[in-house]
Amino acid sequence: MKRFINIVLILTFAGLCACSKASSDLIVSIDGQENNITKTDYQKIEEMVNVDDEKDYDLLLEYLFYQYDVKVVEEMDILQGDTKTTFQWKDIADSTFWRNVSSLEVDDEEYLVDKIILRTGGDAKFEKHSITDIAALTSEALSIPFGEKESGFSIPSGSMEHVVWIFLDGFGYEGYQTAEEEGFIPNLSIIGELYPAYTIYPPKTSTSTAALLSGLDSRENGVWAPGIRDLTVPSIIDAVVDSGKHMTIVEGSSTPFNYPNAEIILSGDRNGDGSTDDNVFENAQKAIAEGIPDLIMIHFHGIDDAGHTYGPYSLEWNEKVSEVDRMVGQLIEQLPEKTLIVLFPDHGMHSIVGDSSLGTHGNLRLDDMGIYIILYQK
Ligand SMILES: [Zn+2]
Ligand SMILES: [Zn+2]
Repeated sequence: MKRFINIVLILTFAGLCACSKASSDLIVSIDGQENNITKTDYQKIEEMVNVDDEKDYDLLLEYLFYQYDVKVVEEMDILQGDTKTTFQWKDIADSTFWRNVSSLEVDDEEYLVDKIILRTGGDAKFEKHSITDIAALTSEALSIPFGEKESGFSIPSGSMEHVVWIFLDGFGYEGYQTAEEEGFIPNLSIIGELYPAYTIYPPKTSTSTAALLSGLDSRENGVWAPGIRDLTVPSIIDAVVDSGKHMTIVEGSSTPFNYPNAEIILSGDRNGDGSTDDNVFENAQKAIAEGIPDLIMIHFHGIDDAGHTYGPYSLEWNEKVSEVDRMVGQLIEQLPEKTLIVLFPDHGMHSIVGDSSLGTHGNLRLDDMGIYIILYQK
Protein backbone atom coordinates (compact mmCIF):
# COMPACT_ATOMS: atom_id res chain seq x y z
CA MET A 1 0.00 0.00 0.00
CA LYS A 2 2.80 2.35 0.90
CA ARG A 3 4.37 1.62 -2.45
CA PHE A 4 1.13 2.54 -4.21
CA ILE A 5 1.04 5.89 -2.38
CA ASN A 6 4.60 6.53 -3.50
CA ILE A 7 3.67 5.89 -7.09
CA VAL A 8 0.69 8.21 -6.79
CA LEU A 9 2.94 10.87 -5.28
CA ILE A 10 5.46 10.49 -8.08
CA LEU A 11 2.73 10.72 -10.69
CA THR A 12 1.33 13.82 -9.03
CA PHE A 13 4.76 15.37 -8.92
CA ALA A 14 5.37 14.51 -12.60
CA GLY A 15 2.03 16.14 -13.36
CA LEU A 16 3.12 19.29 -11.60
CA CYS A 17 6.36 19.31 -13.57
CA ALA A 18 4.44 19.13 -16.82
CA CYS A 19 2.36 22.11 -15.68
CA SER A 20 5.31 24.23 -14.62
CA LYS A 21 6.90 23.55 -18.02
CA ALA A 22 4.49 26.02 -19.56
CA SER A 23 6.20 28.76 -17.60
CA SER A 24 9.39 28.08 -19.57
CA ASP A 25 7.66 29.76 -22.51
CA LEU A 26 8.93 33.21 -23.32
CA ILE A 27 6.76 36.29 -23.12
CA VAL A 28 7.62 39.00 -25.60
CA SER A 29 5.94 42.33 -25.16
CA ILE A 30 6.14 44.50 -28.29
CA ASP A 31 5.08 48.10 -27.60
CA GLY A 32 2.79 46.78 -24.86
CA GLN A 33 1.33 43.89 -26.89
CA GLU A 34 2.16 40.55 -25.23
CA ASN A 35 3.00 37.40 -27.16
CA ASN A 36 3.64 33.93 -25.78
CA ILE A 37 6.49 32.07 -27.47
CA THR A 38 6.59 28.29 -27.11
CA LYS A 39 9.21 25.67 -27.87
CA THR A 40 7.35 24.88 -31.12
CA ASP A 41 7.54 28.53 -32.19
CA TYR A 42 11.27 28.51 -31.52
CA GLN A 43 11.81 25.31 -33.49
CA LYS A 44 9.81 26.60 -36.46
CA ILE A 45 11.89 29.76 -36.74
CA GLU A 46 15.15 27.92 -36.09
CA GLU A 47 14.42 25.46 -38.92
CA MET A 48 13.66 28.25 -41.37
CA VAL A 49 17.02 29.87 -40.78
CA ASN A 50 19.17 26.75 -40.51
CA VAL A 51 18.22 25.52 -43.94
CA ASP A 52 21.68 24.38 -44.88
CA ASP A 53 22.64 21.14 -43.09
CA GLU A 54 26.31 21.78 -43.79
CA LYS A 55 26.38 25.11 -42.02
CA ASP A 56 25.09 26.05 -38.61
CA TYR A 57 23.76 29.58 -38.48
CA ASP A 58 23.53 31.39 -35.21
CA LEU A 59 19.94 32.45 -34.81
CA LEU A 60 19.80 36.18 -34.22
CA LEU A 61 16.99 37.17 -31.86
CA GLU A 62 15.82 39.61 -34.53
CA TYR A 63 14.31 36.70 -36.46
CA LEU A 64 11.78 36.35 -33.65
CA PHE A 65 10.89 40.05 -33.69
CA TYR A 66 10.48 40.08 -37.47
CA GLN A 67 7.86 37.32 -37.09
CA TYR A 68 5.77 40.04 -35.46
CA ASP A 69 6.50 42.46 -38.29
CA VAL A 70 8.92 44.59 -36.27
CA LYS A 71 11.10 46.61 -38.67
CA VAL A 72 13.09 48.74 -36.24
CA VAL A 73 13.95 48.06 -32.58
CA GLU A 74 15.03 50.88 -30.28
CA GLU A 75 15.32 49.28 -26.83
CA MET A 76 14.96 45.89 -25.20
CA ASP A 77 14.42 45.07 -21.51
CA ILE A 78 15.24 41.58 -20.30
CA LEU A 79 13.29 40.50 -17.22
CA GLN A 80 14.70 37.76 -14.98
CA GLY A 81 12.50 37.55 -11.90
CA ASP A 82 12.71 41.05 -10.42
CA THR A 83 15.86 41.98 -12.32
CA LYS A 84 15.54 44.15 -15.37
CA THR A 85 18.38 44.83 -17.80
CA THR A 86 17.93 47.43 -20.55
CA PHE A 87 19.83 47.40 -23.83
CA GLN A 88 19.98 49.86 -26.73
CA TRP A 89 19.31 47.68 -29.73
CA LYS A 90 21.98 49.38 -31.85
CA ASP A 91 24.64 48.23 -29.37
CA ILE A 92 23.69 44.55 -29.30
CA ALA A 93 21.66 43.74 -32.45
CA ASP A 94 24.48 41.78 -34.03
CA SER A 95 25.53 39.93 -30.89
CA THR A 96 22.14 38.86 -29.52
CA PHE A 97 21.30 35.24 -30.28
CA TRP A 98 18.31 33.10 -29.51
CA ARG A 99 19.70 29.88 -28.04
CA ASN A 100 16.44 28.29 -26.99
CA VAL A 101 12.92 29.38 -26.07
CA SER A 102 13.82 31.51 -23.08
CA SER A 103 17.58 31.31 -23.34
CA LEU A 104 19.45 34.24 -24.89
CA GLU A 105 23.03 35.17 -25.48
CA VAL A 106 23.75 38.90 -25.40
CA ASP A 107 27.32 40.02 -26.01
CA ASP A 108 28.72 36.61 -24.98
CA GLU A 109 26.63 36.55 -21.77
CA GLU A 110 23.95 33.89 -21.26
CA TYR A 111 20.54 34.94 -19.93
CA LEU A 112 17.57 32.80 -18.86
CA VAL A 113 14.72 35.16 -19.49
CA ASP A 114 11.13 35.37 -18.22
CA LYS A 115 10.07 38.23 -20.39
CA ILE A 116 11.35 40.51 -23.12
CA ILE A 117 9.97 44.02 -23.39
CA LEU A 118 10.57 45.66 -26.74
CA ARG A 119 10.21 49.27 -27.76
CA THR A 120 10.13 49.60 -31.52
CA GLY A 121 11.09 52.59 -33.65
CA GLY A 122 11.04 53.61 -37.28
CA ASP A 123 8.55 55.91 -38.91
CA ALA A 124 5.09 55.40 -40.38
CA LYS A 125 6.19 56.97 -43.66
CA PHE A 126 8.23 53.82 -44.44
CA GLU A 127 5.24 51.52 -43.91
CA LYS A 128 3.42 52.44 -47.13
CA HIS A 129 5.85 50.79 -49.53
CA SER A 130 8.25 47.87 -49.62
CA ILE A 131 10.93 46.45 -51.85
CA THR A 132 8.36 43.71 -52.52
CA ASP A 133 6.19 46.25 -54.46
CA ILE A 134 8.67 46.55 -57.33
CA ALA A 135 7.82 43.22 -59.02
CA ALA A 136 4.09 44.04 -59.05
CA LEU A 137 4.80 47.57 -60.28
CA THR A 138 6.85 46.17 -63.15
CA SER A 139 4.17 43.66 -64.11
CA GLU A 140 1.57 46.45 -64.11
CA ALA A 141 3.70 48.82 -66.20
CA LEU A 142 4.43 46.14 -68.81
CA SER A 143 0.99 44.54 -68.50
CA ILE A 144 2.20 41.02 -67.80
CA PRO A 145 0.48 38.70 -65.33
CA PHE A 146 2.36 38.20 -62.07
CA GLY A 147 1.01 37.21 -58.66
CA GLU A 148 -2.03 38.54 -56.87
CA LYS A 149 -0.56 41.61 -55.24
CA GLU A 150 -1.01 45.19 -56.40
CA SER A 151 1.97 47.50 -56.23
CA GLY A 152 0.18 50.41 -54.60
CA PHE A 153 1.61 52.78 -57.23
CA SER A 154 -0.54 54.37 -59.90
CA ILE A 155 1.19 53.53 -63.16
CA PRO A 156 -1.49 52.77 -65.78
CA SER A 157 -1.44 49.13 -66.84
CA GLY A 158 0.64 48.50 -69.94
CA SER A 159 1.55 52.17 -70.27
CA MET A 160 5.28 51.50 -70.53
CA GLU A 161 7.38 49.79 -73.16
CA HIS A 162 10.42 49.31 -70.97
CA VAL A 163 11.21 49.15 -67.30
CA VAL A 164 14.69 49.93 -65.98
CA TRP A 165 15.68 48.94 -62.47
CA ILE A 166 18.61 50.90 -61.13
CA PHE A 167 19.75 48.92 -58.11
CA LEU A 168 21.91 51.06 -55.82
CA ASP A 169 23.44 48.52 -53.47
CA GLY A 170 23.63 49.66 -49.85
CA PHE A 171 22.48 53.24 -50.55
CA GLY A 172 19.62 53.30 -48.03
CA TYR A 173 17.27 56.12 -47.06
CA GLU A 174 19.57 57.69 -44.49
CA GLY A 175 22.53 57.54 -46.85
CA TYR A 176 20.44 59.12 -49.59
CA GLN A 177 19.19 61.90 -47.28
CA THR A 178 22.70 62.73 -46.10
CA ALA A 179 24.08 62.72 -49.65
CA GLU A 180 21.27 64.99 -50.80
CA GLU A 181 21.89 67.48 -47.98
CA GLU A 182 25.60 67.48 -48.81
CA GLY A 183 24.90 68.07 -52.50
CA PHE A 184 26.50 64.82 -53.72
CA ILE A 185 23.53 63.63 -55.79
CA PRO A 186 22.40 66.47 -58.07
CA ASN A 187 21.00 63.96 -60.59
CA LEU A 188 19.33 61.46 -58.26
CA SER A 189 17.67 64.15 -56.18
CA ILE A 190 15.75 65.61 -59.12
CA ILE A 191 14.77 62.36 -60.82
CA GLY A 192 11.09 61.57 -60.33
CA GLU A 193 9.21 60.97 -57.11
CA LEU A 194 10.74 59.40 -54.00
CA TYR A 195 8.67 57.00 -51.89
CA PRO A 196 10.12 55.92 -48.52
CA ALA A 197 9.89 52.16 -48.02
CA TYR A 198 11.13 49.28 -45.91
CA THR A 199 13.25 46.45 -47.14
CA ILE A 200 12.88 42.95 -45.72
CA TYR A 201 14.74 41.22 -42.87
CA PRO A 202 17.56 40.33 -42.95
CA PRO A 203 18.57 43.43 -44.94
CA LYS A 204 21.29 41.74 -47.00
CA THR A 205 21.83 41.68 -50.75
CA SER A 206 20.75 38.08 -51.44
CA THR A 207 17.66 38.12 -49.21
CA SER A 208 16.55 41.55 -50.49
CA THR A 209 17.08 40.42 -54.09
CA ALA A 210 14.85 37.40 -53.44
CA ALA A 211 12.13 39.75 -52.15
CA LEU A 212 12.62 42.08 -55.12
CA LEU A 213 12.26 39.28 -57.69
CA SER A 214 9.46 37.34 -56.00
CA GLY A 215 7.47 40.30 -54.74
CA LEU A 216 7.17 38.38 -51.48
CA ASP A 217 8.55 38.98 -48.03
CA SER A 218 11.41 36.82 -46.74
CA ARG A 219 8.89 35.07 -44.45
CA GLU A 220 6.98 33.97 -47.57
CA ASN A 221 9.58 33.36 -50.27
CA GLY A 222 11.85 30.83 -48.53
CA VAL A 223 14.94 33.03 -48.68
CA TRP A 224 15.34 33.91 -45.07
CA ALA A 225 19.04 33.41 -44.52
CA PRO A 226 22.14 34.57 -46.34
CA GLY A 227 23.61 31.73 -48.38
CA ILE A 228 20.36 30.74 -50.12
CA ARG A 229 20.71 31.69 -53.78
CA ASP A 230 17.59 30.22 -55.37
CA LEU A 231 13.92 31.07 -55.25
CA THR A 232 11.37 28.29 -54.83
CA VAL A 233 8.48 30.63 -55.66
CA PRO A 234 7.73 32.34 -59.02
CA SER A 235 9.91 35.28 -59.98
CA ILE A 236 9.14 38.35 -62.07
CA ILE A 237 11.92 37.22 -64.42
CA ASP A 238 9.91 34.09 -65.28
CA ALA A 239 6.77 36.18 -65.75
CA VAL A 240 8.60 38.50 -68.16
CA VAL A 241 10.06 35.60 -70.14
CA ASP A 242 6.75 33.65 -70.16
CA SER A 243 5.12 36.72 -71.74
CA GLY A 244 7.60 36.53 -74.61
CA LYS A 245 9.58 39.48 -73.28
CA HIS A 246 13.22 39.83 -72.47
CA MET A 247 15.11 40.63 -69.28
CA THR A 248 18.77 41.58 -68.98
CA ILE A 249 20.74 41.93 -65.75
CA VAL A 250 23.95 43.93 -65.74
CA GLU A 251 26.02 42.82 -62.76
CA GLY A 252 29.45 43.52 -61.33
CA SER A 253 31.97 40.70 -61.03
CA SER A 254 29.54 38.12 -59.65
CA THR A 255 25.85 37.52 -59.11
CA PRO A 256 24.63 37.67 -55.49
CA PHE A 257 21.66 35.53 -56.45
CA ASN A 258 20.78 33.02 -59.17
CA TYR A 259 18.78 34.54 -62.00
CA PRO A 260 17.55 31.70 -64.20
CA ASN A 261 15.97 32.89 -67.49
CA ALA A 262 17.54 36.35 -67.47
CA GLU A 263 20.37 37.32 -69.76
CA ILE A 264 23.25 38.15 -67.42
CA ILE A 265 26.07 40.49 -68.33
CA LEU A 266 28.95 40.14 -65.87
CA SER A 267 31.05 43.27 -65.90
CA GLY A 268 34.03 42.63 -63.64
CA ASP A 269 36.62 45.27 -62.88
CA ARG A 270 38.24 45.25 -66.32
CA ASN A 271 40.41 48.29 -65.88
CA GLY A 272 41.48 47.21 -62.38
CA ASP A 273 40.48 50.51 -60.75
CA GLY A 274 39.04 48.68 -57.74
CA SER A 275 35.40 49.18 -58.73
CA THR A 276 32.99 47.46 -61.10
CA ASP A 277 30.62 50.43 -61.36
CA ASP A 278 32.31 52.04 -64.39
CA ASN A 279 32.21 48.66 -66.14
CA VAL A 280 28.56 48.11 -65.18
CA PHE A 281 27.86 51.61 -66.53
CA GLU A 282 29.54 50.89 -69.88
CA ASN A 283 27.76 47.57 -70.26
CA ALA A 284 24.43 49.15 -69.40
CA GLN A 285 24.99 51.90 -71.97
CA LYS A 286 25.81 49.25 -74.55
CA ALA A 287 22.77 47.09 -73.69
CA ILE A 288 20.48 50.13 -73.99
CA ALA A 289 22.06 51.29 -77.26
CA GLU A 290 21.83 47.84 -78.83
CA GLY A 291 18.07 47.65 -78.28
CA ILE A 292 16.85 48.06 -74.76
CA PRO A 293 15.25 44.90 -73.30
CA ASP A 294 11.72 45.03 -71.86
CA LEU A 295 13.17 44.83 -68.35
CA ILE A 296 16.75 45.63 -67.47
CA MET A 297 18.33 45.64 -64.02
CA ILE A 298 21.52 47.61 -63.58
CA HIS A 299 23.25 46.72 -60.32
CA PHE A 300 25.75 49.24 -58.96
CA HIS A 301 27.74 47.71 -56.08
CA GLY A 302 30.26 50.46 -55.37
CA ILE A 303 28.43 52.45 -52.69
CA ASP A 304 27.96 49.29 -50.63
CA ASP A 305 31.60 48.27 -51.12
CA ALA A 306 32.88 51.74 -50.11
CA GLY A 307 30.51 51.72 -47.12
CA HIS A 308 31.84 48.37 -45.88
CA THR A 309 35.49 49.26 -46.37
CA TYR A 310 35.68 52.94 -45.48
CA GLY A 311 32.39 53.45 -43.64
CA PRO A 312 29.25 55.27 -44.75
CA TYR A 313 29.76 59.07 -45.01
CA SER A 314 33.53 58.66 -45.38
CA LEU A 315 35.40 60.60 -48.07
CA GLU A 316 35.62 57.48 -50.24
CA TRP A 317 31.90 56.83 -49.78
CA ASN A 318 31.08 60.45 -50.74
CA GLU A 319 33.16 60.16 -53.91
CA LYS A 320 31.56 56.89 -54.88
CA VAL A 321 28.07 58.31 -54.33
CA SER A 322 28.89 61.29 -56.60
CA GLU A 323 30.33 59.00 -59.25
CA VAL A 324 27.27 56.73 -59.29
CA ASP A 325 25.02 59.79 -59.41
CA ARG A 326 26.82 61.02 -62.56
CA MET A 327 26.51 57.61 -64.22
CA VAL A 328 22.81 57.32 -63.39
CA GLY A 329 22.24 60.82 -64.78
CA GLN A 330 23.85 59.85 -68.08
CA LEU A 331 21.98 56.55 -68.32
CA ILE A 332 18.64 58.23 -67.81
CA GLU A 333 19.41 60.73 -70.56
CA GLN A 334 20.13 57.84 -72.91
CA LEU A 335 16.88 55.98 -72.20
CA PRO A 336 14.07 56.05 -74.77
CA GLU A 337 10.56 57.44 -74.24
CA LYS A 338 7.92 55.24 -72.60
CA THR A 339 10.43 53.89 -70.11
CA LEU A 340 9.65 53.53 -66.42
CA ILE A 341 12.78 54.06 -64.34
CA VAL A 342 12.76 52.53 -60.85
CA LEU A 343 15.65 53.43 -58.57
CA PHE A 344 16.03 51.66 -55.25
CA PRO A 345 18.57 50.23 -52.82
CA ASP A 346 18.39 46.71 -51.41
CA HIS A 347 19.16 47.90 -47.86
CA GLY A 348 21.06 50.63 -46.05
CA MET A 349 24.23 50.60 -44.00
CA HIS A 350 25.51 51.62 -40.57
CA SER A 351 28.93 52.50 -39.23
CA ILE A 352 30.90 50.06 -37.09
CA VAL A 353 34.28 50.13 -35.42
CA GLY A 354 36.36 47.33 -36.89
CA ASP A 355 39.81 46.40 -38.11
CA SER A 356 38.96 45.50 -41.68
CA SER A 357 35.50 46.98 -42.06
CA LEU A 358 33.89 50.27 -41.06
CA GLY A 359 30.37 49.65 -42.24
CA THR A 360 27.82 46.85 -42.27
CA HIS A 361 24.09 46.06 -42.55
CA GLY A 362 21.73 43.28 -41.56
CA ASN A 363 19.86 44.44 -38.47
CA LEU A 364 16.44 45.73 -37.42
CA ARG A 365 17.55 49.35 -37.31
CA LEU A 366 16.36 52.24 -39.43
CA ASP A 367 19.65 52.89 -41.20
CA ASP A 368 19.65 49.27 -42.46
CA MET A 369 15.89 48.75 -43.03
CA GLY A 370 14.85 52.17 -44.35
CA ILE A 371 14.98 52.38 -48.15
CA TYR A 372 13.09 54.22 -50.90
CA ILE A 373 11.71 53.67 -54.36
CA ILE A 374 12.15 56.48 -56.88
CA LEU A 375 9.87 56.42 -59.92
CA TYR A 376 10.37 58.37 -63.10
CA GLN A 377 8.36 57.95 -66.28
CA LYS A 378 10.24 59.05 -69.32
ZN1 LIG B 1 23.46 44.84 -50.90
ZN1 LIG C 1 26.92 45.00 -48.22
